[in-house]
Amino acid sequence: MVECELCGKTANLTPALVEDTKFLVCPSCLQHGTKLIDDVALVPQTIKKPVKHEEPWSVFVDKFNLKVKSAREKLNLTQEELAKKLNEKVSLIHNLESGHFIPPINLTIKIENLLKINILQEVEEDIKNKTIDFKSSELTIGDLIKLKKK
Ligand SMILES: [Zn+2]
Repeated sequence: MVECELCGKTANLTPALVEDTKFLVCPSCLQHGTKLIDDVALVPQTIKKPVKHEEPWSVFVDKFNLKVKSAREKLNLTQEELAKKLNEKVSLIHNLESGHFIPPINLTIKIENLLKINILQEVEEDIKNKTIDFKSSELTIGDLIKLKKK
């Protein structure tokens, strides 16, 4: 037997979500929260789960950095010009094209749109356009991996 994380009573405890935080609670405290089954809330809520750090490269197509480089050259853009268009530093573009930098997802989408290329793999266009609000959410590559697996 363990003690309820909310009231300290010793009882049969159930994992529950109370104000977005997971607790082990007794039956009476459970009424104030949402019961969790397999750590998933019965009522869908906006739970921010910690993002597992999976291999970030896996969402990008093979040699995406070279793809960016050749697409940029096709458009007759220098690294400086591309950086300017993206509001980024030239060093960032340089590191990206040389494969030393993994761009954050919002920058990746900007690059894709600007260079008219696809450097993310297996991500449906409609997911990119509809499901994710890139402006308001702090989307990470980890989130995208989760979307991909759905
Ligand atoms: Zn309790």
